[in-house]
Amino acid sequence: MFARLELLYNWGMIQKTRLFTPGPTPLLPAAQFAMAAADIHHRTPEFRAIFLRVLAQLKEFIGTKNDVLILTSSGTGAMEASVSNLTSPGDRVLVISAGKFGERWAGLAKAFGCEVDLVSAPNGETFSLDAVKAALKLETRAVFMQATESSTGARHCVGGVAKLLKEANSEALLVVDAITGLGTTHIDVDKLGIDVLIGGSQKAFMIPPGLAFMAVSQRAWDRMESTYNPRYYFDLRKERKNAKDGQSSYTPAVALIAALGASFDYIAKQAATPENPAGDLAAGRKKLIENAETCAAMTRAAVAALGMELFSPTCPASATTAVIPPNGVDSSVIVKELKARFGSIIANGQGEMKGKIFRIAHLGFFDYLDTIAIIGALEQVIAKSFPSPGFAFGNGLIAAQKLFAERSPTAAEDNCCCARKAAAEAK
Ligand SMILES: *Cc1c(COP(=O)(O)O)cnc(C)c1O
Repeated sequence: MFARLELLYNWGMIQKTRLFTPGPTPLLPAAQFAMAAADIHHRTPEFRAIFLRVLAQLKEFIGTKNDVLILTSSGTGAMEASVSNLTSPGDRVLVISAGKFGERWAGLAKAFGCEVDLVSAPNGETFSLDAVKAALKLETRAVFMQATESSTGARHCVGGVAKLLKEANSEALLVVDAITGLGTTHIDVDKLGIDVLIGGSQKAFMIPPGLAFMAVSQRAWDRMESTYNPRYYFDLRKERKNAKDGQSSYTPAVALIAALGASFDYIAKQAATPENPAGDLAAGRKKLIENAETCAAMTRAAVAALGMELFSPTCPASATTAVIPPNGVDSSVIVKELKARFGSIIANGQGEMKGKIFRIAHLGFFDYLDTIAIIGALEQVIAKSFPSPGFAFGNGLIAAQKLFAERSPTAAEDNCCCARKAAAEAK
């Protein structure tokens, strides 16, 4: 009986599985082909050429003069490497936390014997810069934060923290988990003086999980001269030495590195011009960010028109949109229905947010059509499972369509929620 009902739901439709999760994200076909063809040994001139090229592309994509590293691990490996390489037991560090990934920083710092000062904000909010200022001590050795907190859909003000550290003439290194920030948020690493910026392959890079990225400043390298927390696999100085030669310390995820190269070529090409048909990675990055911003803004407009609220309304990130379902509905039902009826995988809330929110991602290989499609499917799920008196098909789609039609790219300066907040308060 039940199976028959499900059949009736999607009368005459096949299912295509699509990821709308904030990591892993949909894969770029060209990257998948590159992976399949990457049958090469890592201690050969062939691999060395690929690795050096991809490292150079990564540097351009991040937009930094600092050294960049590629580690074979998920993103958390690079988070751990930042703590183990930049701190010594007993170091006082400041962790800024407003969600699951912020908590991860605190856990890591404690695991390596640091004395952790915590500035936290409730899930769905961002911290106040005054609280950060008050918590910063003379002896603070490092500050750890997220650019975007994927568990809540919030954006944090990296620029504000960077400025604060500069004004205080602080010796603290600024370490930013930009794992979902890269490719969704404008972050000028060198101008802000970010000491370590971290990325992960399964986010906006359009390739599978398994690589972590780091951009490391001279100040951070200098710090490593004297820190003595234990490290072995993630010894960044060793990795840097090897990377200069196109080598990695241990066997790298060769296929993923080949995939990454293909993905960078694609991103660069998005900014191709007749004079430069291969495009440009810095311009391609900008386009990728604007793409995520547009998908996110369409989604926000649609959920509002469907009578739902954002979980992080004051500081929504472009990486992922976290939504509170209508009147007390368990978000697990929406997650399940989208998968069962439309093959669309969205994310539930993590930890204590499970059942309370659902998250739709925009980072990486998503476009206008994907965004319209998930909004359409969401309308179907709401219509079937929680019809409210005011519901009408198309309300979400109309709002998204209008937003798209009227949208102009935002300036980089508007990309910070503190700036937006300040501007709103000044009005
Ligand atoms: C995905 C993610 C991570 C890393 O998680 P891994 O599972 O180790 O790749 C860290 N921080 C943020 C903000 C993330 O979104």
